Amino acid sequence: MLQVEKSQKGSIFLFKLSGNIEENTKLDEALGEPKPQMEIHLKDISRINSIGVKGWIKYFQNCQAKGTKITFTECSTAIVEQINLISNFTCGGAIESIYLPYSCGKCRTEQLCLLKVEDLKKLGMNLPTLKCSKCTGTAEFDDIPEDYLAFLSR
Ligand SMILES: [Zn+2]
Repeated sequence: MLQVEKSQKGSIFLFKLSGNIEENTKLDEALGEPKPQMEIHLKDISRINSIGVKGWIKYFQNCQAKGTKITFTECSTAIVEQINLISNFTCGGAIESIYLPYSCGKCRTEQLCLLKVEDLKKLGMNLPTLKCSKCTGTAEFDDIPEDYLAFLSR
């Protein structure tokens, strides 16, 4: 089930998506006609399956064809996975920021770190460490940087 919260910031139409994108997800109904500028907030997308991906690409390719300027912000780990798997997943849109999975070396607590793509490009594969949210330990990036950030070098 996909939920969409719509708002507007100047000429930019903001869409905050949450839930899952699956076979019964109708993005054209959920997001409406393509607008000149759209910002898609993806923090709370927990899952997108292969049929969901097809519908996603169909919708955003239509936006691309209509000249929409699209920005994807706060991409969840599920979305980053698809960005890496499917080369045209963003359909010409810009990725502004993504969540990275982190885990504490001491208590294994997992947390997410939001980074801007612009900053990630500067960092290269030297990802920062974080303070654990639960104990005094240090949380480190919990995936393979070359895999998780593969899309950066496309
Ligand atoms: Zn910890």
